Amino acid sequence: MNGAVAILVAAGSSGRMGFPKLTARLPGGETALSLSVRGLIQGGVDAIVFVVSEDTKDAAQIAAETLPIPCTFVPGGETRQESVRFGLAAAAAFAPEIAVIHDAARCMCTPALVRDCILSARKTGSGIAAVPARDTVLLKGPEGEIGTLPRDRLICTQTPQVFRYRDILAAHAKAAGEEYAATDDCSIYAKAGFTPTFVTGSDENFKLTTPADFARLSAMVGSAVPAVGIGEDVHRLVEGRPLILGGVTIPYEKGLLGHSDADALAHAVMDAILGAAGLRDIGQLFPDTDPAYGGANSMALLHRAMEQVRAAGFSVINVDATIVAQAPKMAPHIPAMRENLSTAMGISPAQVNVKATTTEGLGPEGEGKCIRATAAALLRK
Ligand code: MG
Repeated sequence: MNGAVAILVAAGSSGRMGFPKLTARLPGGETALSLSVRGLIQGGVDAIVFVVSEDTKDAAQIAAETLPIPCTFVPGGETRQESVRFGLAAAAAFAPEIAVIHDAARCMCTPALVRDCILSARKTGSGIAAVPARDTVLLKGPEGEIGTLPRDRLICTQTPQVFRYRDILAAHAKAAGEEYAATDDCSIYAKAGFTPTFVTGSDENFKLTTPADFARLSAMVGSAVPAVGIGEDVHRLVEGRPLILGGVTIPYEKGLLGHSDADALAHAVMDAILGAAGLRDIGQLFPDTDPAYGGANSMALLHRAMEQVRAAGFSVINVDATIVAQAPKMAPHIPAMRENLSTAMGISPAQVNVKATTTEGLGPEGEGKCIRATAAALLRK
């Protein structure tokens, strides 16, 4: 491959957080882990080695299923240094030229910073994200004596830390026997005799460590831009077909005609979420000329549409839908419809509203010739 392979370190214990910080849901349904993965991919890595713990391995595997690049998984070690060494060893499978070492807890790392660090490593051998020290750092000795460090010479390293693969592999091998476990890779690289190149990081690229960090991250993610979509669908009411709306089979003398199960409500909801995500419509995703979708269960189609929406980086804030039908009575079935639709989308029933109206006998819906459904969806990127 000879590309840039990410070693994504997601094996910490979340000791200072009190809950699994990398896999806890943020507003909009993302996790720190999924944000980190996206930053790396958009920053141009060609493969990812996930260094995982028991806490993170399932979430990492789920995140990897929808990724456009190859991934592999390796259990972490006793220390961060050991975890990175295991990750570097596993990266050999991709024959990388460049190793992009990144802590999953720095999930607000921008694609631009990843790219800058990779570029620096290609030019100079390394690219270490870092910022100047802002606080005064004192060194306390064993007798309590205080040493001062000149602040203008202090560098706070972040990740990504990017290196020529063979160099950092050698540096880690050399450091493996030493007693002191390094907390970053730049120190290991420098100790092995290399001169690191620093790339300007940012305050936003902070490390998720305390509950206050998690609150800050939630606020940053929660301010993401919303997107709205609408969907509409009509199916003809005929004899000899089941009436299925929102995944509920409603006892009635007629049912909806269509290539799939003709669930007009599910189809309107799918078009609303796809529309909000800018992914066109269900006709594009599941063509009715494709025999694979003959009689298809629309709840399964909705689930798949939602996967596409998530892969495009969106999550659902809420969905609202209206069924327009003269008969039968929809009210008794609405709770089950909300349950089915929300399950298919992987969201809460509280985020899905369904209502029904008649047209007082007017128009084709009023005459019982068809049933119409409309839906609006609000998504967040
Ligand atoms: Mg339809």
